[in-house]
Amino acid sequence: MSELRWDPLKNNWTIITQGRSRRPQDFIQQRSQIEMASCPFCNGNEAKTPPEIYAYRPNGSQPNQPGWQVRVIPNKFPALRIEGELDNQAEGLYDRMNGIGAHEVIIEHPDHERSMADLTAEEISEVLKAYRTRMLDLRNDSRFRYIFVFKNFGVEAAANVPHSHSQLIAVPLIPPVITSELSACRQHFERKERCLICDLLSQERNSKLRVVRDDGNFLVYAPFASSVPFELMVAPLEHSHDFTLQTDQQLLLLADTLRDTLRRLRAVLRDPPYSFILHSAPPMHLRWGRPDYWASLPSDYHWHIEIAPKLTRVAGFEWGSGFQINPTAPEEAADFLRNSDPTVIY
Ligand SMILES: [Zn+2]
Ligand SMILES: [Zn+2]
Ligand SMILES: [Zn+2]
Repeated sequence: MSELRWDPLKNNWTIITQGRSRRPQDFIQQRSQIEMASCPFCNGNEAKTPPEIYAYRPNGSQPNQPGWQVRVIPNKFPALRIEGELDNQAEGLYDRMNGIGAHEVIIEHPDHERSMADLTAEEISEVLKAYRTRMLDLRNDSRFRYIFVFKNFGVEAAANVPHSHSQLIAVPLIPPVITSELSACRQHFERKERCLICDLLSQERNSKLRVVRDDGNFLVYAPFASSVPFELMVAPLEHSHDFTLQTDQQLLLLADTLRDTLRRLRAVLRDPPYSFILHSAPPMHLRWGRPDYWASLPSDYHWHIEIAPKLTRVAGFEWGSGFQINPTAPEEAADFLRNSDPTVIY
């Protein structure tokens, strides 16, 4: 039996097919390992990248020299450029905006061979602190309406340097996915005076059906209407709209959750390609003519990380209809992950 499921946060439908449910081994694929002769992200190759914007250097080494643990650099081939003024123009029925933004690379570790799942929780927490620092800095630039932090792992064509890294893109408008989440959260809050994501977390926590991990600080669960197999949501149990408000201690707990979750995905799906993206509150710059626009944001929004393994290809129907077809029910995916051994390495 297949069913259509509507997610109140995504404000969208997914088709979950259960007749020929696909299990982990159906998604496991051989991927060729791309080796880089002289990787620009490796320790000692700092001169091959643009000058660093931020680095964590526990031994006090000099900028753009070896000795760092986390390093943030501008993307050499940015999707958006930081220079210039915003220029928003109408062209008949069309709108045009120049590609102002920031595109940065967060190199997570100097060692070429270690993926995020191989890092310790302390090491991952330094990566999360780099996210926090860069988000706070870019937030001061009023041209940027949203700052995305995301990671592509093993995703062909998207991650062309295998050395473990995340990316940050600041954009001059709030993208539809975020607008839809913000408005779903705001509407729920207007009706109930409660945070939608807090409500989702407590329902999932009570039912346990789709929960992968619950350590009392962060909940990891497969969303009810997961649009891809083994999709996961990671959110703090304590309400917070803004990732940058997390303390070092909270980031260490998040790092532990992320590490365990990535290791479970690796154990069940044999090191699958995946993407994750951080959804946090947008910078609350004043909105022209709507001074109270962000008034309820700290109460109604709740930051989270969405993880999506890349196991299926988007084809015509999904592309043209906006409906995803997901061949693994989230209850089954959660079951596989919950019962997996995070210490298994592939
Ligand atoms: Zn490298
Ligand atoms: Zn909340
Ligand atoms: Zn989200």
